[in-house]
Amino acid sequence: MYFKEMDIDQRTKKALKERGFQKATEVQESAIPWAMKGDVIVQAKTGSGKTLAFLIPIFEKIKGNENDAIILVPTRELAQQVEKEAKAIAKHHGIRTVAIYGGVSMDAQVKALPAGVIVGTPGRVMDLMRRKHLDLSKTKIFVLDEADRMLDMGFIDDIRWILSKTNPNRRMMLFSATMPPEIQRLARRYMKKPKNILLSEDSISPDAIKQYYVECTERTKMNKLVGLLREDPGKYLIFCNTKVRVQSLAKRLRGQGFPAHEIHGDMRQGSRTRVMNDFKAGKVNILIATDVASRGIDVHGITHVVNYDVPRYPKDYVHRIGRTGRMDRDGKAITFVTPEDDEFLRRIEEYMERRIKRMDIEDGRVEEKEDYRRYADVYGMVHVRFTLATEAGEWDIVREAEKNGIAEDSIGKIDIHGKRGTMKVHYRHADKIAKIPLFEEFKIQRGS
Ligand code: ADP
Ligand code: MG
Repeated sequence: MYFKEMDIDQRTKKALKERGFQKATEVQESAIPWAMKGDVIVQAKTGSGKTLAFLIPIFEKIKGNENDAIILVPTRELAQQVEKEAKAIAKHHGIRTVAIYGGVSMDAQVKALPAGVIVGTPGRVMDLMRRKHLDLSKTKIFVLDEADRMLDMGFIDDIRWILSKTNPNRRMMLFSATMPPEIQRLARRYMKKPKNILLSEDSISPDAIKQYYVECTERTKMNKLVGLLREDPGKYLIFCNTKVRVQSLAKRLRGQGFPAHEIHGDMRQGSRTRVMNDFKAGKVNILIATDVASRGIDVHGITHVVNYDVPRYPKDYVHRIGRTGRMDRDGKAITFVTPEDDEFLRRIEEYMERRIKRMDIEDGRVEEKEDYRRYADVYGMVHVRFTLATEAGEWDIVREAEKNGIAEDSIGKIDIHGKRGTMKVHYRHADKIAKIPLFEEFKIQRGS
């Protein structure tokens, strides 16, 4: 459906046209009419256009009086981003907007209050309410954006507190990529007969993303990443599990001549905003981040999301890779997996109900590889059937295997009967079987 055919304010239509938006996305088309009538709970995947699904109805309902609408979001970056979208519409209505979030001085934010539309993070909103700078007793619309993320970040009590001090007759909208029980309880407690709009969940990630994993060790990781950056250039968002690892990777990449930038929670808000804007504008094409940046940030044209570290929770994996492949664009998600990470990779695959393909980066080539995990037994061993090219014993095979990079402790039982035989090898070394010159033929099979 085209926005111009929708029953919404002309000024909003003008703003949408200016932004180049013509057709409503699925979530917008289904949520907007209901949101104009009453409370709504909307579950739709990341990148589906939820922001406009609540902004458009807001501007149908408010006149721009004091603190008419408040939108709670989990992170500072998201507060800035949503406020920017709100402002683009608000200016056509003559309504003022403000973003309030922590990490910066309160003064400017206090001066901008009251405003018609407030976008804020729970901590700073609570702070300003306690200091009597912010009064939500007449607020008409209350939006919770990325509700599941707020739950993850431990904001649920803050949200309850804020809600308990907000005009009880307000309208409420709740947006989330998933609907954990805690969020459902919150909705039952604070919302009035909400309409549930359930589109596809985030749990299965969009098909637009090609997902790969790369076997590596802590020692080979860096070289493989450098190989990838050289061979498959693009706009990279690279995740590490800790701030310290973000900093150290950024430094090492810069040392190798890559203009890598970093973003994490310890940086001053000013620098974070600057880096984000440069990344958006394409001035920075390699950004290394902690999970802080992984949710809600909408940057166009990210071609590669790299998990330099495997995230510890499958949910974080989904959030991270959701930064690419947005709005019908193709993207790649590449996860570096050390032997210690195998278990986490398996959990991610279980959660997503899909297999991640294997690729390797070696000698300047990036290519898809056979995934030998499929053949591995519970000990990670695959079964190799071979025919010998010359007469050889067990120890000849071990020696040749070791020469070609297969560690002795990755080799299991070897049986030889005349020219034929079998051996077990850890799946991470299965590629190297082909290099053993003693074999005329071999076949890798499921271990038992
Ligand atoms: P979500 O909150 O569901 O993750 P966003 O609201 O951040 O998604 O939207 C994702 C991207 O899609 C943004 O860049 C936004 O500008 C763009 N977008 C939203 N609605 C439309 C539309 N109707 N037509 C084209 N692009 C849109
Ligand atoms: Mg969103």
